[in-house]
Amino acid sequence: MNAHVAGQPACTSLTRAEAYAFSHDFDCPTLILDLEAVKRQYSSLAQGLGRAQIHYAIKANPAPEVLDALQAMGSNFDAASRAEIDMCLQAGATGAQISFGNTIKRASDIAYAHACGVTLFAADAEEELVKIAHHAPGASVYIRLVMGATEADWPLSRKFGCAADKFLPLLTLAKDLGLNPVGLSFHVGSQTRHASMWTPVLDQIAPLWHQARAAGFPLELLNIGGGFPAYHGADIDAPEPYAADVMRLIQSRFGPVPHVMAEPGRAMVAEAGAIASEVLLASRKSDEDLHRWVYLDIGLFSGLAEAMGEAIRYEFLTRWDGEQTGPCIVAGPSCDSADVLYETVPVQLPVSLQAGDRVVLRNCGAYTTTYASVGFNGFPPLKQIVI
Ligand SMILES: *Cc1c(COP(=O)(O)O)cnc(C)c1O
Repeated sequence: MNAHVAGQPACTSLTRAEAYAFSHDFDCPTLILDLEAVKRQYSSLAQGLGRAQIHYAIKANPAPEVLDALQAMGSNFDAASRAEIDMCLQAGATGAQISFGNTIKRASDIAYAHACGVTLFAADAEEELVKIAHHAPGASVYIRLVMGATEADWPLSRKFGCAADKFLPLLTLAKDLGLNPVGLSFHVGSQTRHASMWTPVLDQIAPLWHQARAAGFPLELLNIGGGFPAYHGADIDAPEPYAADVMRLIQSRFGPVPHVMAEPGRAMVAEAGAIASEVLLASRKSDEDLHRWVYLDIGLFSGLAEAMGEAIRYEFLTRWDGEQTGPCIVAGPSCDSADVLYETVPVQLPVSLQAGDRVVLRNCGAYTTTYASVGFNGFPPLKQIVI
């Protein structure tokens, strides 16, 4: 029997984080993160990935509790800056467990990483290799390749990676600079919802891997990046079969690769988190307006940057769920007119929703606390409670 708890949706089964978000009081938007859910997700991904080593992309959610738990479970880490390296070390990781996967590194950060015992670095350009050779002599490097067509909801293409014709020249340069070119990396694009969507990307990468080996580079590391999805309303594969399918696609194209590493960020933490938010205002611009404007106390600049371009569509829970709904434009609280979350495709929200009501955003443990501005309009960065 499901009793209807006052103030909670009657019709949806809540995660532990969502239940917490409905049953506590908050004075500002707050992310509730369920640590047990993070651990379960790590186990599922690790199970599916088999022999591939996980390097958690800590930018998704670097909460000390998350890093401590993952360190205890045997995860490695991918860091993008000196500060992220420090967070991993703080959690007890050694330099050898940390990859420096940002292709755009500050020279002094490379030197710092080297001093901390980090030996694995990413690069996609000549200048970056020169910096690494100078500040981390003898380090292992993998070359990141840019992907053409990707089917991800949040593509990372274009900005990162070199084109195919640069791959062998960069491996050669790395060797000439005294570095150890160990392999390649790519990112299929974040929020790639089905394992089958990896196929065109792997088909682009595999020939390059084989070419390099034929050219005499004893490549041993295939870094498959992230891209593992979280549930945001559209169908996704479950984590374990997803990871296992990706590994099968790799096996059939690459054969026996000595080391495969994966860098899940989103999938590790997104579904473990729920944001407790509040409606500050629900209004119509005119009496004839067909839709309402719902202004939340959280927006693009206070943690929901991934709603930019309506790329990631968060699901909303309210205590009125199950009752009549109407189309709403959902916006944040700041004095910036760009701070609109969903307008092109309005959100169906209960017509009873009003100022003061709690709204819980589902599956938003990834890329929220780290994307919140420090004080735009005086709004504090997104608060986080780990349960
Ligand atoms: C952000 C990032 C990841 C994590 O991507 P997800 O799609 O969140 O899993 C992995 N690797 C690199 C290099 C990244 O920049």
